[in-house]
Amino acid sequence: MAPMGDEDIILGWWNWDPGDSAPSKSLDDVPAERRSEVEAQLKDKAKARRKIAKRKRRLEKSKEGQDPVDYKAILDRDKGICYLCEKEIMEEDTLHYDHRVPLAKGGKTSTDNMYMTHSVCNIRKGSKLEKTYRRLYPNN
Ligand SMILES: [Zn+2]
Repeated sequence: MAPMGDEDIILGWWNWDPGDSAPSKSLDDVPAERRSEVEAQLKDKAKARRKIAKRKRRLEKSKEGQDPVDYKAILDRDKGICYLCEKEIMEEDTLHYDHRVPLAKGGKTSTDNMYMTHSVCNIRKGSKLEKTYRRLYPNN
């Protein structure tokens, strides 16, 4: 006997007997007085399944945006200068890598979009766009 899915259980619960053959898989076999009830349950199940599928697709899409980041290339490009305040990041500063276009605004975790910053500058920028940040802190 094939493993039963949720639908099979719902369709067959009113007459299912362990050890019996697989419950009915057709809505036509559901007694007429139970049909709308079973139909509603099936609809809920289908809705839940679509929700899960949607979540899965979204997760896969977000993974596609995760390019490997070449931190050595970022160091060579940025040369230890914070792109937000344009001052050198000293040894005693905490180094951060900022998403220049924030993740929340569709930016990617990629070498092209990651820039060296001071931790304080990065935290202050948060998920703002660069132009918003520069308007708020024109002189840092
Ligand atoms: Zn800075």
